[in-house]
Amino acid sequence: MSKKFDIPFESNMVPTMLDLGSRLQFSCHKGISCFNACCKQADVTLTPYDIIRLKDHLGKSATDFLKDHTVPFRMDKEGLPGVKLRTTDEGACLFMTEEGCSVYEDRPTACRLYPLGHMSMLATGSKTDETHYFLIKEEHCKGHEEDQEQTIAEYLKEQETAQYEEMNREWLQLMLKRRSMGPTVGRPPEATLQMFFMCSFDMDRFRRFVLSENFRNTYDLEDSVYEVFAKEDISLMQFGVRFMKQAFFGERTIPEKDGAWENRVEQRQEVWDARRQAEITRQQQEEDEKYKDA
Ligand code: SF4
Ligand code: SF4
Repeated sequence: MSKKFDIPFESNMVPTMLDLGSRLQFSCHKGISCFNACCKQADVTLTPYDIIRLKDHLGKSATDFLKDHTVPFRMDKEGLPGVKLRTTDEGACLFMTEEGCSVYEDRPTACRLYPLGHMSMLATGSKTDETHYFLIKEEHCKGHEEDQEQTIAEYLKEQETAQYEEMNREWLQLMLKRRSMGPTVGRPPEATLQMFFMCSFDMDRFRRFVLSENFRNTYDLEDSVYEVFAKEDISLMQFGVRFMKQAFFGERTIPEKDGAWENRVEQRQEVWDARRQAEITRQQQEEDEKYKDA
């Protein structure tokens, strides 16, 4: 199955790195003998921005889009959740038609890049990442046998990837940073992984969470910011990355209200007390049962 988007930490291969000036001999067009072959075996990982573009294209809510068009999977050994495009049982993308891609103008990042994969890397001691490209050559893809040749930069321009790269950058950096911290950070608690899923992909639920009274009582943001989050997906997506940086790395860039931490501890204390009391009651009931007929 073609893998149209290699998340860096998932890949086992050591590819030949290409840069924007490297030359690519490739052409994909409607008359080619393999037309649609790649979409018949689609394995497309989605980014948060891909989801916004596709759900808007289809006029669906994020919740409905996730339900109808994606399948969840784990992106790494620590169980980081991701989503892929749903396919038929035979592996064909649901957006494929005889004429080609039915969502072409809003097709995902991976489909735009193919037959390239990309990889963000942090050089030792560097704070900024570098993007490298590599070539994916698959048996069924005859585009590599065409004569057309251009630079990687020209190919990316033709595929209109610039907006996608910009919108994906911070989210990919977040995952790269997690990866670069290696096993020292260990597996995040399940609640953090679920939070990552919500902030990254489940925009409707994340919006409800951010606009909730609890959230507003905890974080010190202007009303105008909440108004933007209520109607703008891109701002909310970018805030989601910021929120996850706080959850994963403790980067406290979102101001909290005075006493919010103490209130949270107090609220949790009540939950802990209630749980302790429930456990004492359960144990007492067990003891009572034991000696009932004695
Ligand atoms: S979204 Fe379009 S280009 Fe991508 S796999 Fe599906 S049909 Fe093919
Ligand atoms: S040339 Fe490659 S990318 Fe284009 S339709 Fe054929 S298999 Fe798909």
